[in-house]
Amino acid sequence: MSTTGKVTGIVSNLVTVAVDGPVAENELCYIILGGTRLLAEVIKVNGDKASVQVFESTRGLKNGDSVEFLGKMLEVTLGPGLLSGIYDGLQNNLTTMEGVFLKRGEYTEPLDHAKVWDFTPIAQPGDKVIAADWLGEVKEGWLPHKIMVPFSFKGEYTVKEVAPAGSYTIDKTIAVLTSADGEDVPVTMTQKWPVKVAVRGYKEKPRPSKIMETGVRVIDTFNPIAEGGTGFIPGPFGCGKTVLQHAIAKQGDADVIVMAACGERANEVVEIFTEFPELIDPHTGRHLMERTTIICNTSNMPVAAREASVYTAMTICEYYRAMGLKCLLLADSTSRWAQALREMSNRMEELPGQDAFPVDLSAIISNFYARAGMVVLNNGQTGAVTFIGTVSPAGGNLKEPVTESTKKAARCFYALEQNRADQKRYPAVNPIDSYSKYLEYPEIQEYLDETIQKGWVDKVLKAKNVVRRGREMADQINILGDDGVPMSYHEAFWKSELVDFAFLQQDAFDVVDALCPIERQKYMLDCILDICDRTFEFDNFEDCRNYFKDLINTLRQMNYTEFQSSKFHDYEQQLKKQLS
Ligand code: ADP
Ligand code: MG
Repeated sequence: MSTTGKVTGIVSNLVTVAVDGPVAENELCYIILGGTRLLAEVIKVNGDKASVQVFESTRGLKNGDSVEFLGKMLEVTLGPGLLSGIYDGLQNNLTTMEGVFLKRGEYTEPLDHAKVWDFTPIAQPGDKVIAADWLGEVKEGWLPHKIMVPFSFKGEYTVKEVAPAGSYTIDKTIAVLTSADGEDVPVTMTQKWPVKVAVRGYKEKPRPSKIMETGVRVIDTFNPIAEGGTGFIPGPFGCGKTVLQHAIAKQGDADVIVMAACGERANEVVEIFTEFPELIDPHTGRHLMERTTIICNTSNMPVAAREASVYTAMTICEYYRAMGLKCLLLADSTSRWAQALREMSNRMEELPGQDAFPVDLSAIISNFYARAGMVVLNNGQTGAVTFIGTVSPAGGNLKEPVTESTKKAARCFYALEQNRADQKRYPAVNPIDSYSKYLEYPEIQEYLDETIQKGWVDKVLKAKNVVRRGREMADQINILGDDGVPMSYHEAFWKSELVDFAFLQQDAFDVVDALCPIERQKYMLDCILDICDRTFEFDNFEDCRNYFKDLINTLRQMNYTEFQSSKFHDYEQQLKKQLS
């Protein structure tokens, strides 16, 4: 007999329930409202009282209404067909229904049960397998989608049968496994997994040792993110968080992209709906959506669904990582998720932490970031989940709890600056305060030495120094006036402007400039550092300014021109002339 209960209190989406049996934290339940069943999740148990957060509007609910506990946690359905899907946080399929919003109490099937997939076996009868081992493969778009031993299987199994190559639906038994106790268990192409539990099924999780290219210069050159790494983009409203994240989603060198749009404005979500299906993947020339899954909850959906959406998105990434693929998870914005936690915590009248966020906010955030990473699978192949979240601190205050907690958890920090955004210096990433801890990893330095150039990191540090010195000079010039400082100050200032305008700034909406491959980044950085290494003898600061403005112009034209095209070479010649 499963546990049941009666509603005893309702505060918005938080409902208290008197229960007649055991219930566990994170367990799901249905609240019966007439003919409708509202899905909810237990967030706290205290004796025979459970606090549950309802994933839907609780309008019309009253004390005494019945509750049925399901004895399981919120699960995600995993299987072929997730890619190109658009789901909400509870994995309701938003592409198969009319309009964006489901009716209350309506839940849809996440995967297509009628579609057939061309299956090729990998395992053979007699093989010994454990959870996450590969049994077979289907092609999902152009990606090899591995059908695995379900993650929930414990211990070793022996493969009894594997289906021959053929076309099957996801519900067909594609293998029968025999457990150590001699029990035969059928396996289909789908499995379920509780979203709040990290997927295991790998041998080890070493430190990341490669860079994930994004085509964005401030990231790849200045503060690279590792494949399997973590980063976050804090910034005030309107500074370009979403634009930067979308650029990474479109261009990131990953096999699978999962975008969790949680709680941002509804029109942004509609934009994703309309824009993404049109986009072409620069790496393969195919439709980007073929390798993308979108999980979206807008701010007008109940707060509990936001939390579900980031966990659902992470679990989908972990699933594809177990197939040996490179996955990229983007969440916009994780602040909305944290606000959902705060609302629930406040409704439960828990002892509040800083700014009324739950006291364990920091632990919740770091546990989530810790699920990203590069892994070595049981068969020796590798897979990765790279995670980049945005944070929208109120008033741009980087000392607020969500930003501070995320800073502890993420290894890359891309701080967007109001000041830069106001000057339209996009992406408005602050070149001084932002960092990538991966630049300090010896294995990453070695990787950069080998794939870009020996001593690459020193070059990057040199360019950062030019920018830092330029900022100091700007301060001096501001205080002492143009004529009150030596000419070398002007020169140093304009060298930093050169790095800023010709390298750091990048137009996300220009067909050429939006995506800058790493060899092109190297070429531009070399050009720029070559100029910064020279000493000029200007007679007055106007000459200095005019000279650098011309150089900046030429270099920017180069950024907007197809790399190594004849027009590009013309600009190279022009630059040579300007420098001679
Ligand atoms: P946020 O998500 O931080 O609120 P958005 O990403 O929506 O901000 O950006 C706001 C606006 O800033 C964009 O609509 C765009 O006009 C401009 N912008 C941001 N980044 C860039 C960029 N890299 N290139 C050109 N314009 C940009
Ligand atoms: Mg935004």
